[in-house]
Amino acid sequence: MILAADWVVPVDGPAIRDGAVRIEGRTIAEIGPAGREADERFDGAVILPGLVNAHTHLEYAAMGGFGDGMAFGPWIEDHIRRKAATGADDSLEQARAGAAACLRAGVTTIADCSYSGVVADAASEAGLRAIVYLEAFSDWPELKARTEDRIDAAPATELVQPGISPHAPFTVTLDDYRMLVGLARERGLPVATHLLESARETVHLDELGDILGPDTVAIHLVYADPRDIELMAGRDIPGVHCPRSNALLGCGIAPLPELLAAGVRMGLGTDSPSSAIDFDMWSEMRAAIMHARARLGRADGLSARTALELATAGGAAAVGLGAVTGTLTPGKAADVCVLDLTGSSFLPWDDPVTAAVYGGSCDRVALTMVDGEIRYRRGSHPSPTAASARAKMIHA
Ligand SMILES: [Zn+2]
Repeated sequence: MILAADWVVPVDGPAIRDGAVRIEGRTIAEIGPAGREADERFDGAVILPGLVNAHTHLEYAAMGGFGDGMAFGPWIEDHIRRKAATGADDSLEQARAGAAACLRAGVTTIADCSYSGVVADAASEAGLRAIVYLEAFSDWPELKARTEDRIDAAPATELVQPGISPHAPFTVTLDDYRMLVGLARERGLPVATHLLESARETVHLDELGDILGPDTVAIHLVYADPRDIELMAGRDIPGVHCPRSNALLGCGIAPLPELLAAGVRMGLGTDSPSSAIDFDMWSEMRAAIMHARARLGRADGLSARTALELATAGGAAAVGLGAVTGTLTPGKAADVCVLDLTGSSFLPWDDPVTAAVYGGSCDRVALTMVDGEIRYRRGSHPSPTAASARAKMIHA
């Protein structure tokens, strides 16, 4: 199958004007100039790698607006209470809506922290590539046995694999961190944890540094100080930046340019509608740029190209999938997003990266392909909304 468009942006190399991507089965076979033999040609469009949303909670897809404007402490207490009161069916309904929203955003890979674990089912059904980290909290009885049981019960397919997520240092003790990360390493599973998200967090990397490593992703890092950044770079601990969530919860702006300058593997994530409105990675890329430039007072604080790299290759590398996805590279999985910019203020164009990052939106995604399968085509996939789960939560 050959897809052609005005531009192909492979991310790991120069953009190709009037380019094409040839797909064989589940794999990218070739990228280059478009010939006459394209199966489908998209005019006014750019072909990009499928986006990598490096931090999601799909099962909070219908939680938009709850607790808006509350301080972080009371907000997260309210949120944990609400999610604990949500039944498995309602979590699954939300996770299905979240998976559909991701495909509609051009996302082909998610790294999701799942309280209930049902995100693995929703991602499998939708055909998303996913790491589903099972969340763990220290106040759960029999935490070790319970976590082992959850890992054993977790569905694992070629596209969906389980991981473990000690939630955060204020809900997981240091001993439990050590136990959970040890358990993950025994099983060869990846780890993700929320870290240094709000001003009330006092546990820095040097207190966790011998636990965390290249297989443990640290999410948020708003309060990472120069010593944390140095430790992350030195131990190759990857991170995920969630600028809209951090801003809307009043937590602050993470030092993303500093983390990148130090060489830390960084990805970009939307978090969930519970804190960040939606799963729109185009809005997230623009937020990353705007926040970095505003904070530093410099227009070159973060480039559109870097934002796109974070949302593709960077996220893939951060969650350990860099060899599989994140760029349009022959041999990698055929994870592709076609973005249609007709009618936008970016045509005609000479810089498809700037156009895609500033002009991109869920409504402009024409096609999303995961592992060689078309999983979303604009106009032909209705979006589930999880309205019934939401209706119950309003009174929870
Ligand atoms: Zn989160």
